[in-house]
Amino acid sequence: MSDIVEASSSGRAAPSMRALVIGGSLAGLFTGTLLLRAGWNVDIFERSPDDLDSRGGGIVLQPEVVEVFRRAGVDLSTLALGVTSQSRVVFHPDGSIQSRRLAPQTQTSWSLIYSTMRRAFGPDNYHQGRRLVNIRQKPGGSVTAVFDDGREETGDLLVGADGSNSTVRQLLWTNAEPSYAGYLAWRGLVPEDAMPEIARETLHGDFAFANNRESHILGYLVPGERNDTREGRRFYNWVWYRAVDDAQLRDVMTDVTGRYRGYSIPEGQLAPAWREHVWRDADALLPPAFRAIVRATSQPFAQAIRDLSVDRMVKGRVILVGDAGSIPRPHTAASTSKAATNALALQAALLRLPDDVDKALASWEPQQTALGRYLLEHGRQVGNHLLFGSASPKQVG
Ligand SMILES: Cc1cc2nc3c(=O)[nH]c(=O)nc-3n(C[C@H](O)[C@H](O)[C@H](O)COP(=O)(O)OP(=O)(O)OC[C@H]3O[C@@H](n4cnc5c(N)ncnc54)[C@H](O)[C@@H]3O)c2cc1C
Repeated sequence: MSDIVEASSSGRAAPSMRALVIGGSLAGLFTGTLLLRAGWNVDIFERSPDDLDSRGGGIVLQPEVVEVFRRAGVDLSTLALGVTSQSRVVFHPDGSIQSRRLAPQTQTSWSLIYSTMRRAFGPDNYHQGRRLVNIRQKPGGSVTAVFDDGREETGDLLVGADGSNSTVRQLLWTNAEPSYAGYLAWRGLVPEDAMPEIARETLHGDFAFANNRESHILGYLVPGERNDTREGRRFYNWVWYRAVDDAQLRDVMTDVTGRYRGYSIPEGQLAPAWREHVWRDADALLPPAFRAIVRATSQPFAQAIRDLSVDRMVKGRVILVGDAGSIPRPHTAASTSKAATNALALQAALLRLPDDVDKALASWEPQQTALGRYLLEHGRQVGNHLLFGSASPKQVG
């Protein structure tokens, strides 16, 4: 997917080049670390004052992420990258097996990727509690980020890695808004040693799926607390897509304290009535093993599924990467790898054209927007088919 040039094989950026990366999650850390490796001065500005939390579990490990690790200098010989599942198994609602095929695959977790990249980037230029509120650009290539505490930072490139509700995008791409896809993902994590017996016997070790009317669930093991991949210490991660109309969505996204949270509800914040709704729905729609694992989840959480892709990812010296630029549906299992691809290709372009940032950005942009558009369309087709169609197409995540 990416256009790769080794950091060591080509010219390095002039030492005075400075990148301001807005957002210190996966896309920001991928891009920031690879620009650092390409010889840029990089500062990452993250609005959250604390380390980011686990963001809900499982991510299918894709080769682009491993490539970012490699280029970031991560020692891959000592890092346990995730948990391998053996087969893909699809269950009928009554629990009988619809299909089973051998398809070994590695699942990792958001927190394993985040903590690995935090170590790779280092603490010095990672600034917490800094919320971007405005951007100013000057002809000639300087860009200034304005933060809510009134402080300003000026650089040669501003990277909007600030996620699906990106402030950078709202400031400069005023017509690009994510749209709700008509369904959400209930999610849950159950400690491996607390898996109910039927779930352990039926689901453990595989990548499992089950379909029903307006319902599609999948699950697999992921690393546990502190990225522990040892048997017994992992989590079972499940994701259950359910059609929910706009009014219901608003209610789901109103948390236990009555605060409206928009498009995601973290673990522990789902209102009790919806928690009970999830458990009841599980009884009605899921095969016994999935029913048991959902019922064993004390704190389900939720994310609305949304669509977005922008036509352009570059405006002057401001660019968008990761979810800020496009949001593929999770069935593609490609959001994190797309963020990695954006970063790998940017590093390659800036190494190829170290003396002409504008030309480098112009050469980076077309493939990245095409990738965003392709994943958006592909995810739409798969998701709409799974939730609102009849048969079962290729299931990836
Ligand atoms: C149900 C579901 C399942 C998923 N499963 C997978 C999967 O299997 N595989 C996969 O690859 N991906 C998956 N994803 C997507 C994945 O979590 C993200 O795509 C990935 O983490 C990249 O995110 P990001 O860094 O672009 O944005 P985010 O993780 O949203 O980070 C944006 C960061 O910017 C910060 N920020 C926001 N505004 C500002 C501001 N104004 N100033 C400073 N900082 C700011 C935020 O605090 C945040 O830390 C899934 C998503 C969903 C909804």
